[in-house]
Amino acid sequence: MTKIYLDNNATTFPLPEVIRAMKEVQESVFGNPSSIHWAGREARNLINSAREKIASLLGAEETEIVFTSGGTESINTALVGIWEGRETADRRQESGERFEIISSPLEHHASLKSLEYLKTKGAEVVLLKVDRQGRIDLEELGQKISSKTLLVSLMGANNETGNLSPIQKIGEICREKKVLFHCDAVQAMGKVPLSIKKIPVDLLSFSAHKFHGPKGVGGLFIRQGVKLSPLHRGGNQERGLRGGTEGLTMIHGMALALEVVSKELESSYGKLFLLRKRLEEGLLKGLDGVRVNGDGEGRLSNTSNLLVEGVDGESLLFNLDLEGIAVSAGAACESGSLDPSHVLLAMGLNPRQAKASIRFSFSKMNTQEEVERVLEIFPRIVNRLRK
Ligand code: PLP
Repeated sequence: MTKIYLDNNATTFPLPEVIRAMKEVQESVFGNPSSIHWAGREARNLINSAREKIASLLGAEETEIVFTSGGTESINTALVGIWEGRETADRRQESGERFEIISSPLEHHASLKSLEYLKTKGAEVVLLKVDRQGRIDLEELGQKISSKTLLVSLMGANNETGNLSPIQKIGEICREKKVLFHCDAVQAMGKVPLSIKKIPVDLLSFSAHKFHGPKGVGGLFIRQGVKLSPLHRGGNQERGLRGGTEGLTMIHGMALALEVVSKELESSYGKLFLLRKRLEEGLLKGLDGVRVNGDGEGRLSNTSNLLVEGVDGESLLFNLDLEGIAVSAGAACESGSLDPSHVLLAMGLNPRQAKASIRFSFSKMNTQEEVERVLEIFPRIVNRLRK
């Protein structure tokens, strides 16, 4: 059976050149980057050059990049770290006010659950309204920011709908109002241009496995001067912001993956756009009761979240799986659960519609032939399930 992988927002396969480079490092560099002898220096040099590469690709300074275990850790570090950071803690204590963080109900659970945790620590969390297309209102954001606002945390691209947020404008509003802006760029990184020189963002989270790098490694950009407390305490690695011996091989792989995808950003975007266009046109024409969840134009070119009226998304997923086609009916971490997507619910879909939705997400390795195969199989399965 031909296997077709269309769940690239859950994770991407690591590029062959990334695997090769990691294997070489794994075989030849083993030192602890904190050791001052030759073995340590070899390891330290590798980390330094990975940091240099990532910083330069993002338009950041090397001292502004902290390596983590992935998106979830970066987001937790940003949100909890700012809240618990000395400056913030002092400010909270002096004023006695309840400080707030502004975010949206569309965020990944890494953000929403961190915010839930911060509520138990006294934070007020304000979630912005969302329209039917899954967009926030910048005017509302501007109005909601007050002297109590510490931080605005909004994602760059939504994992379920692919919706792109106007992060440039969000950053400008935050700058003007003098509040910090954290962007969960886990889905945006490696798919759309991200230049920290241009975007007024203070913290930005990313994860290698979403852009063809290895799993279990990511990073957090922390703009110079932004102070936060570490999530876990330990050695002085990552300038004391992330104790623990660095995952040398994976950091090396992440830097290479980002370099490769950054070079191909424009061509990949165009290719994925055409694949998605063909898929959506074919399915919307071939079947009644199908529509796109999300912002028609303003979304990642690789993502198509479709509401297929009259079917259960999970049954659809299982049936596609039997044909070798991997898709998702919700966020990756929720697959296997029957809960309807919180993102789709926040956009105003009812639970039945949210459960009748399915997400296709492409990568540069997908082909026109694969899309044609989906167009052949998908309507057949839907018609059968509808009966
Ligand atoms: N944020 C977004 C938007 C995501 O899509 C994901 C992963 O699905 C994460 C955060 C968490 O990233 P990681 O899997 O690297 O912890």
